[in-house]
Amino acid sequence: MADFCTRCSKDLFGTDIAPDIDLKEEAKNLSVAHYIGPLLCEGCGFIFLYNDNGVIRVNVEDKQSTKHPDIEKLPTLDEFLKQEVNHNSTGK
Ligand SMILES: [Zn+2]
Repeated sequence: MADFCTRCSKDLFGTDIAPDIDLKEEAKNLSVAHYIGPLLCEGCGFIFLYNDNGVIRVNVEDKQSTKHPDIEKLPTLDEFLKQEVNHNSTGK
């Protein structure tokens, strides 16, 4: 079974269908300075959620990475959910 995050699920199935990976629900349980991940979304890849002093930020990796991301430069969860889904990612 393929699982999709809030952003991809909305794009593929609309807002009436509950996402397999509900990023907002996941974020609610996230304490300050903690992170959750990886959450494997078939559309995005490996999703990590960070609680940066109460601001939830999203990091997406194509594969599992051990490097520590620059958290302040990551999009917030709200910004991430507004981004267009890139169906044809060519990497960076
Ligand atoms: Zn996704």
